[in-house]
Amino acid sequence: MATFKVAIVGAGPAGYFAAQALQNLQSEDLQFSIDMIERLPTPWGLVRSGVAPDHPKIKTVSKVFEKVATAGNFRLFGAVELGTDISIEQLQEMYDAVVIATGSAVGKKLGIPGEDLPGSISAAEFVPWYNAHPDFHSVDVPLDGQTAVVIGAGNVAMDVARMLALEPSELDPTDTADHAIAALKRSKIREVVISARRGPENAAFTSPELRELPKLEHTNVLINKSDIEAAITRAGDEIEKDSKSNLDAMLLISEKEATSHERTMKFQFLATPIEIKGDGKVEEVVFKGTVSDEIFSIKCGLVITAIGYEAASIPGIPYQAGKVVNTDGRVGESLYVVGWAKRGPSGVIGTNKSDASEVMKLLAEALKSPKNKGDVSDLLQDKKFVSQSHWEVINAAEVAAGEPLGKPRKKVVLREELLGLGGL
Ligand code: NAP
Repeated sequence: MATFKVAIVGAGPAGYFAAQALQNLQSEDLQFSIDMIERLPTPWGLVRSGVAPDHPKIKTVSKVFEKVATAGNFRLFGAVELGTDISIEQLQEMYDAVVIATGSAVGKKLGIPGEDLPGSISAAEFVPWYNAHPDFHSVDVPLDGQTAVVIGAGNVAMDVARMLALEPSELDPTDTADHAIAALKRSKIREVVISARRGPENAAFTSPELRELPKLEHTNVLINKSDIEAAITRAGDEIEKDSKSNLDAMLLISEKEATSHERTMKFQFLATPIEIKGDGKVEEVVFKGTVSDEIFSIKCGLVITAIGYEAASIPGIPYQAGKVVNTDGRVGESLYVVGWAKRGPSGVIGTNKSDASEVMKLLAEALKSPKNKGDVSDLLQDKKFVSQSHWEVINAAEVAAGEPLGKPRKKVVLREELLGLGGL
């Protein structure tokens, strides 16, 4: 029997599904010893820092991750950063294979004047801010204006718009960061405009997310019926199933009578942002009609761009067009990539399962004989790291602190506090 050592870098969904796929490939002759390296003191990636807190069902996939983590041949090395604490060359030297699963964490830019004004931020900052990511707790999110504009027509734009437009006490029974709930309760924003450069027929939202919008209890959701009717005409009979479901869902919203709620979430289509203006801070977004060429602007104090992500680069790994350069997940000799770092930022969490499984098959096929040259623990020396048992202590403490408050967990934000909670 041969046991091969595999290092997986990144403890998000793609990393865990890769570990699970390796566990499933094991046989009497083939065993894996899996070391998962994560730069944060907490694992679960987007399930902790990305998924909207008012969507707790999506987070139940963490049970699968914990099953993988406790299967016996798995070790977690949290608070260890590739590129800083260890290098890719060191990992490749020691492990029989290395799998990059570091996702895409950098928000794409619009590339228009004024984009860097205070008050113009990316969903890549706002989402981890409300989700208690240690690196984003001090993001400046100006919530003192009446209007916010969200650019983009995907599910991230929708999450962002919903978080800004819902009645913040609805977040009390969620695991939203305490600092974000407090700030959102003070927020003066009453109108959130979600703006798409193309028509409703081309929106990247998915229909279940659209269908749940009318269930918001304290927010008016407004879509112009004429926008949807025009989109239905443009799309014609050849329309794809997903676009049709979206248009059906948007038509239902557009037909719903407006209520007297003071909070509004409004959809705008066929509007291309061309400039963000303001004197030292965001004051308005200027748009050009994508078809009409008409110039118009919306006064606002906050603009959030949710137009996709790129992978943050790690020294020693080749990147192009926001992704790790790869062929079907193979990057080079014993080096592989899975998840958004491989494919780009598309698909739901479950998409990573089949994707990682295909790549891990290639990895297993290419193995020859085990190197037996040590592992990451030899490199860390005195550095504190979060093992699976430390994480289980942190996890249990957060869940216990949330219980009396009716929350699934009360998240700890700061790195040092997380390490302290784990007894480190
Ligand atoms: P996305 O689905 O790719 O949507 C990006 C949006 O940004 C598109 O509407 C795109 O419009 C627009 N855009 C891109 N460049 C632009 C520009 N320069 N100016 C204006 N608009 C621009 O990306 P995402 O929303 O970041 O989501 C990433 C993935 O995560 C998706 O697969 C999504 O479904 C998934 N996700 C799922 C959930 C859920 O299941 N609840 C929640 C969040 C995210 P064009 O089409 O015109 O390029």
